[in-house]
Amino acid sequence: MKELNEAIRKWGKTIGKDVVKVDMFLNHRIDTALMFRMGEELADHFASARPDLVLTVEASGIALALACARALGDIPVVFAKKGSTVVQNEEMVTSRVYSFTHKTENTIRVDRRYLPEGSRVLIVDDFLADGQAVHGMMELCDQSGCPVCGIGIGIEKGFQPGGETLRSQGRDLYSLAIVDHIDEKGNVCLREN
Ligand code: 5GP
Repeated sequence: MKELNEAIRKWGKTIGKDVVKVDMFLNHRIDTALMFRMGEELADHFASARPDLVLTVEASGIALALACARALGDIPVVFAKKGSTVVQNEEMVTSRVYSFTHKTENTIRVDRRYLPEGSRVLIVDDFLADGQAVHGMMELCDQSGCPVCGIGIGIEKGFQPGGETLRSQGRDLYSLAIVDHIDEKGNVCLREN
């Protein structure tokens, strides 16, 4: 997506060889016009899959999920919560997810009532790296008896295996921008699409 690629080129920073920082417009300060455009672009791609709801994980996936759900005709957004809670019971579906950015393992959870059996789920997240977060959300859908009808991503890091794995499984994965690699000077190199 042209506007997103431009924003990454203009504002994107890197940490080491594998972390892309887009705090300026995506997940700390949010460029609202760009975010809603991103949501529309995902919605255009996935409208024909007829999702009933958008599932993401807190916190940085919520803005894109909301923008996308709005553009899909105001369908609900459900965000998986992280960490433990006092109301940990059979009413919750849970999954263990290793966090790429925090290097810790988290439990993610959703109240079963918000993932009704048979709902067609569109998974959305800001980044796709190794695919742990997406796989964790797919597991929640599995436990709830909900088919995953697509996976929409803001920025996929093409040098990590998450995207390749999902595509090889035949998943409809659509990423608005793909970072091909980070060069030795720390520049973000985008895959042209
Ligand atoms: P994965 O589970 O696919 O390995 O990583 C995806 C999750 O980790 C996303 O939810 C995102 O919040 C975070 N993440 C992974 N790589 C990056 C990155 O390069 N930059 C930022 N800002 N977040 C990332």
